[in-house]
Amino acid sequence: MPELPEVETVRRHLASVLPGRTIREMTFKRTDLRYPMPIAALQELVGRPLGEVHRRAKYLLLQVNGAQVLVHLGMSGRLFAQPGPEPEWQKHEHWRWQLMDPHGEVLWLRYVDARRFGALDLVPPGQGHALLDALGPEPLSGEFSAGYLRSRCQGRQVPIKQLLMSADIVVGIGNIYASETCYRAEISPLRPADQVTPAEAVRLVQQAQAVLGDAIAAGGSTLRDFVGGDAAPGYFQQQLDVYHREGQKCNRCAALRSLADDSHIVHARVGQRATFWCPTCQK
Ligand SMILES: [Zn+2]
Repeated sequence: MPELPEVETVRRHLASVLPGRTIREMTFKRTDLRYPMPIAALQELVGRPLGEVHRRAKYLLLQVNGAQVLVHLGMSGRLFAQPGPEPEWQKHEHWRWQLMDPHGEVLWLRYVDARRFGALDLVPPGQGHALLDALGPEPLSGEFSAGYLRSRCQGRQVPIKQLLMSADIVVGIGNIYASETCYRAEISPLRPADQVTPAEAVRLVQQAQAVLGDAIAAGGSTLRDFVGGDAAPGYFQQQLDVYHREGQKCNRCAALRSLADDSHIVHARVGQRATFWCPTCQK
């Protein structure tokens, strides 16, 4: 499933090629993805130039004529731009737009999604959107501070990992990154939120930003491989310390103590989600 770093990688790819191109034609192979697509309203954007490409949580927002086209990649969606003559339709490709730059060069914006949990919608000029309105701050913004996190932890007994995954608290920290954040911050994912100290809140914010930043940097290296080519970006996996490492030795304990240290990563379900941690160095 694409997480925030993958979506940000897609955004950077699209931001490098879409702005200034005019929409020549939109073709849809179906009328719905997860929700019905507003095809008639979208078709009214034909002839308009695309503006900047923004991201909010895991939603891509393409600016067109004061409106925003909202794209969500769902579980398996891929959105990519490809230059050249019209490509063959891929299996599971549900829509594509033909774009043209001022020199007449054609670009194809294509959406492929085998599981169809993705979304395509329109946010009219000056309006909000039900999917966007209740979202908490961006994890890489200054709004997501230790003070803010502490204020949201007050009086909450929910495990800290589950709180970090709540989109009304902070967006874009998915299951993998929540486990990795708790590991790097040396805090048990099971710790009740209201028992997180001020110093630990600082570590959680810093490490959440570091783990997402590392993943975006890893995505940047895969980005170079597909920009301008005909391949869609794959989803990348960075080096992980705990996620899906149950039964394996803890890297930090092994480095801190000795190679004979037998601290192992354990696994449990927390709030219905697979959770991984080292019970020796995460308290
Ligand atoms: Zn450990």
